[in-house]
Amino acid sequence: MTNIDPRWGDWKNAPPPVPESEICDTIDCDVAIAGAGIAGVTCALRASQNGLKVVVLEKTGSWNARGGNIGVANSAFMRSQGYENDLEQLAREWVKRCCGRCDETVLWRFLLGSEHAMDWLIDILTSPEYGVRPELQACIYRGETYREQMGSHRFFDGPMAKKGSRAGSADAVFAMYTESLKLGVRYLMNTPAQQLEKRGGRVTAILARSADGYIRVRASRGVVLATGDIGGNPEMCTDLAPMAASCSSSRYTPRGANTGDGHRMGLWAGGAFEDGPFPIILHPQAYSLANYCFLFVDRHGKRFMNEDNNIQAKSVAVHRLGQEYAWSILDADWVTKIPASLPYGGGIFWGLDHAPGERGFSEEMTKLYFSLAQRSGGFAQADTPEALAEQMGVPAQDFAATLREYNEMCRNGKDLQFGKRKELLMPLDKPPYIAIKFGPSVLAVVGGLRVDGRCAVLDVHGEAIPGLYAAGNVMGGRYGVDYPMVIPGTSHGTALTFGWLLGEVLAGKEIP
Ligand SMILES: Cc1cc2nc3c(=O)[nH]c(=O)nc-3n(C[C@H](O)[C@H](O)[C@H](O)COP(=O)(O)OP(=O)(O)OC[C@H]3O[C@@H](n4cnc5c(N)ncnc54)[C@H](O)[C@@H]3O)c2cc1C
Repeated sequence: MTNIDPRWGDWKNAPPPVPESEICDTIDCDVAIAGAGIAGVTCALRASQNGLKVVVLEKTGSWNARGGNIGVANSAFMRSQGYENDLEQLAREWVKRCCGRCDETVLWRFLLGSEHAMDWLIDILTSPEYGVRPELQACIYRGETYREQMGSHRFFDGPMAKKGSRAGSADAVFAMYTESLKLGVRYLMNTPAQQLEKRGGRVTAILARSADGYIRVRASRGVVLATGDIGGNPEMCTDLAPMAASCSSSRYTPRGANTGDGHRMGLWAGGAFEDGPFPIILHPQAYSLANYCFLFVDRHGKRFMNEDNNIQAKSVAVHRLGQEYAWSILDADWVTKIPASLPYGGGIFWGLDHAPGERGFSEEMTKLYFSLAQRSGGFAQADTPEALAEQMGVPAQDFAATLREYNEMCRNGKDLQFGKRKELLMPLDKPPYIAIKFGPSVLAVVGGLRVDGRCAVLDVHGEAIPGLYAAGNVMGGRYGVDYPMVIPGTSHGTALTFGWLLGEVLAGKEIP
């Protein structure tokens, strides 16, 4: 049995070893980490707090972060707000939504460990030096089918927010980075990890490329792959995550940093990938974020899904059409219809996610979202369905017929086309009509190397490769088939948790 599929492209082939003559420096440490994203920086700080000497290699010129939600199973802050999740129920729901394809050992490490990691992070962030205000993400899907649980944390008023960043995770990574510098963690920026070295079956060092030549970073406790996802590598996506390869939009920053380097290094060292295709996070970032539950139509002016699906399922359904976007239709009564829909559904970008941490529907913010959509060419408004269709560029008669049939179905209260719940069947019959572009975009490919519950990379036989670990989007096992959104923001939440757990594991401590 081999860990390499012969059908994969050239990326699967390990490069020739770096000649000794090209190695210009050797650094010794306890832990060598590739990647200064949320997983890598968390691990660096926790390991250094545990007394270990840590070196982090980063491909770009800085630590990196994006997005705002960090989803965990529980935290002291959640309890202080009156929320506590039932872990057993969460686990069953997670496994169900992943169609049984996630690794339950990995899942339970997250469920049990995430509270420790989040409490630890909040202690740092709320110290006077950072002055961050934590909030729970209030906009969760409240219907049955895609119910989301509280647990997504957002952070406000920190140093990065004051500089204009809306991404709450930036303050988290910035604070952890700053704290780790105080403890002596050494960051080598613009120094991409390129190969791993093995001695007697154990991974002992990372070889990284600096301006002067290769640097060998030897790690006595372990080498950690935390280089993020494969979304910026089209060949790897074609082989491992075809849906990401076929999506025309991606929002990862910094562009091109996420080329699956850690995935490849782990593979070349004998690691095995989880079964493909890898799951991806597909959200409607390509055009307007505004997303509602009324009528959606494709380029032919036809309905094609249950608009009550959650954000991931809707994005997947639009992607399946083979077009860059669909249209989300509203009428002049949106100001009453959107809030009326929220007790039955909701979730990110469906009405509530207007201002971070905001707990209710806001007419003003909805108008702001409309005007942002307008500016990007993703908004149309007209007094008749035909005139709206013309602006949308879809066949006018077909769209008008779709709207007529949809409204009739809403009045009858039964959707035998796609099964939308009757509470959400609201006719759209009050002009002016509005259409907003809904375009899926890849946020991250969330699949990778098989690991055990201690983040050790596994070979095809399920045996741990001594000295090699993975955290964040390099690791597999978290989702298996699709991004489940049982709690929003668990791609950050798992990166944080497994980074933290690894900091314990590498120091020889027991983990929860
Ligand atoms: C617009 C946007 C919004 C998002 N919002 C959310 C959200 O709200 N909630 C959520 O959970 N998720 C969100 N995500 C996804 C989330 O950002 C990622 O899944 C998460 O940051 C992954 O963390 P990571 O540490 O594994 O990788 P990354 O954050 O990608 O960090 C990897 C690091 O490794 C570096 N690197 C790469 N190759 C090498 C190499 N060879 N050597 C050294 N360094 C290397 C990279 O430069 C980078 O600094 C969002 C994504 C996008 C694009």
